[in-house]
Amino acid sequence: MSQLDQEISRRRTFAIISHPDAGKTTLTEKLLWFGGAIQVAGEVRARKASRHATSDWMELEKQRGISVTSSVMQFPYRECMVNLLDTPGHEDFSEDTYRTLTAVDSATMVIDSVNGVEAQTIKLLNVCRMRDTPILTFINKLDREGKEPIDLLDEIESVLGIQCAPMTWPIGMGKRFRGVYHLYDDAIAFFDPQAEKGTAEIIQGLDNPRLDELIGSQADELRMDIELVRGASHTFDAEAYLAGKQSPVFFGSAVNNFGVQSLLDAVVDLSPAPIARPAVTRKVEPNEPKFSGFVFKIQANMDPKHRDRIAFLRVCSGRFDRGMKVKQVATGKTLSINNAITFMARDRSTTDEAWPGDIIGIPNHGSIRLGETFTEGEDLRFTGIPSFAPEHFRLARIANPLKIKQLQKGLQQLAEEGATQLFRPLSGTDLILGAVGTLQFDVVASRLENEYGVQVIFESYNCSTARWIHGDAGELKQLSERYSANVALDGADDPVYLAPNNVYLNMVKEKYPNLRFLEAREVI
Ligand code: GDP
Repeated sequence: MSQLDQEISRRRTFAIISHPDAGKTTLTEKLLWFGGAIQVAGEVRARKASRHATSDWMELEKQRGISVTSSVMQFPYRECMVNLLDTPGHEDFSEDTYRTLTAVDSATMVIDSVNGVEAQTIKLLNVCRMRDTPILTFINKLDREGKEPIDLLDEIESVLGIQCAPMTWPIGMGKRFRGVYHLYDDAIAFFDPQAEKGTAEIIQGLDNPRLDELIGSQADELRMDIELVRGASHTFDAEAYLAGKQSPVFFGSAVNNFGVQSLLDAVVDLSPAPIARPAVTRKVEPNEPKFSGFVFKIQANMDPKHRDRIAFLRVCSGRFDRGMKVKQVATGKTLSINNAITFMARDRSTTDEAWPGDIIGIPNHGSIRLGETFTEGEDLRFTGIPSFAPEHFRLARIANPLKIKQLQKGLQQLAEEGATQLFRPLSGTDLILGAVGTLQFDVVASRLENEYGVQVIFESYNCSTARWIHGDAGELKQLSERYSANVALDGADDPVYLAPNNVYLNMVKEKYPNLRFLEAREVI
């Protein structure tokens, strides 16, 4: 096997998705700890504390600086190199989360056993589904009185529309939580919150008398449960998992370290190594010798005055070497990348090499845009990086009209980072800003002032949702003429319908049946 093939087969690149408070931060921290990447628990939590603190601008700044280092965590585990991509927890940053999901090969979904499937989980899973991303499920907080496990599986299957294959099964819950049974290893791991790694003992076999000795009457309950579960649930099917149709399910308690190692082992044993990626003209295989990759995230660095940014690039094929010359396909320019950053979990270090599945950070001053492809020369464009219909809108006005040029430039550049979207209605000169969460408007106002010297006032704007318009050119022309205040161009000059409310949206859909009104748009 070539070194390239070897490095690819040992890469696992994944993200954790969950509704806030289900335990994503805790699980991340425990995974890093089991992976030997952090020495003490608490490091990730400290970062999160500052993250949640306030929407105050200084805090946001701090957070942006901190999250550059924490947004990709690479660590070796067993024979593999694991890349864990962080997704921002705050709901207002969810668009960033969506795009991060385009850069992974699998995801782990955390479900709170008390709350079951929650709103944000549904949204995130729908995004994974756009690419049939394989999903592992971790049902967390078994140390609390939650829903019955069988009901949780039912809920996941019916609400999320994905088959569940339990890999472990819990023994009791809450005060009676004793551990889990591994359905495929026929082993029982006993829970002990006092034990260093959450597990007191592991024994083999459901018939093992030690089982009765340790948990008494719960042993027979378990035997009956397992008979039922084996009969009533799906068995694990690797092909269905890899196709995103079935999710292997693990139970545990992240805060108590319990079940975390089984999950990490599953990431190594079950999750896919980097797979081929679609580009406009062809599919790109990871083991193609020439380097290629795409930018899925742009993050401003600590000092906003320097417009210092990091573009996060996922390597899709070939090998990246420090100092390598790569082509920025969108501009045709060749860049020499001497200062790329990698993300070994403990700190940032300068990259010497990176392989498919790895993420590198490229410092720049605004010359790299979201969604861009970099190659060793070929004119490839990777597809599938989504931009989502914003749900909040503001009309941008400035105190000093002489600064209109700076305002336009600032809004355009900030929109290119992907946090907000800029719309210009066909009639008039209004600049409309759209965002997935309202916190983004504070960020934009503050950055416009600091970085562009423009004081902006955001006014409310009568729009409830935006839809990208595709389809019949004749109908698009009619729609544009009839509703020129509601049809706008986005940052890439694509037409968008700004719907004042759902009644209007339904009306234009009926009136122009050959147009499609899409909730997401691909950035290419
Ligand atoms: P996130 O918002 O998804 O990142 O969730 P956190 O990791 O911050 O967890 C939310 C809360 O749930 C915190 O107070 C955690 O201590 C708690 N938590 C996490 N895992 C468990 C668990 O296994 N059992 C219990 N009882 N609480 C947990």
